[in-house]
Amino acid sequence: MKWASWHNHTGDGPRFSYCAAKNLSPQFYIDAIANGPWTAFAITDHIFAMMIPEDSNPWPNQWFLNQHELHRHKAFYEDRIATYLARLQTFCDGKTIFGGMEIEVDGNLEPIFDLSLRDKLDVLIGSIHHLPGDSVDEKIRWHFDQVDALLQMPIDIVAHPFRNLAQFTYINDEIMDETLNRIAAAGIAVEVNAHVPFNREPDMLRKAVSRGMTVAFSIDMHDRSEITAYNYLDEVVKKSGVKEEDIKLFQPTVRINS
Ligand SMILES: [Zn+2]
Ligand SMILES: [Zn+2]
Repeated sequence: MKWASWHNHTGDGPRFSYCAAKNLSPQFYIDAIANGPWTAFAITDHIFAMMIPEDSNPWPNQWFLNQHELHRHKAFYEDRIATYLARLQTFCDGKTIFGGMEIEVDGNLEPIFDLSLRDKLDVLIGSIHHLPGDSVDEKIRWHFDQVDALLQMPIDIVAHPFRNLAQFTYINDEIMDETLNRIAAAGIAVEVNAHVPFNREPDMLRKAVSRGMTVAFSIDMHDRSEITAYNYLDEVVKKSGVKEEDIKLFQPTVRINS
């Protein structure tokens, strides 16, 4: 299968994703297209890395329940966003390299994203990265509250919907079906993500296809070594039993340099 990855990071120069390797640059993605089997990449760096300086320890999610930390670096943020958008304009061609952002909500379930930026991005992905609470029940509540809040935003894809919750509990059919039903009802794509393998990914793909959902495959690249993670995607499709031609593949609307 030929693969596009709609969710990927960079860690070079301006460090728009602090979690990504320093040698992972937009040029790496351009070169990777030439080498195949990739057909397209979207660069989707982290919104919080544009809001909080790296030396203020923004990860993991100290800002989630302390939003002051998110909003107190105003000049830094404005400068970063301008630089980020200019960089996307330099590299994105709307054919093989697309530009976007990985966004989320804070502990008030408020979007961490300036909606006026939507039209400047090809791909907007919404993620859950933090589930507060001491009990599994609380974490499940935070999971669904964040899914619902993300679906209120103009996102294209819900990224790795079970990555965080799966750290605390088995993702049973009830949780998986309810999550997919909500994403499907919103008409938003669900992501198969290779960065952190999830043992129920084939089941998720099968359930998404049976609901007629759009599926976005991603390697969520943080390190150059992940460039071969199409193997994981191939395996998920194979294990799911779904026919390739039955998968409704995500395709972004070109907005950058359109
Ligand atoms: Zn993520
Ligand atoms: Zn990511």
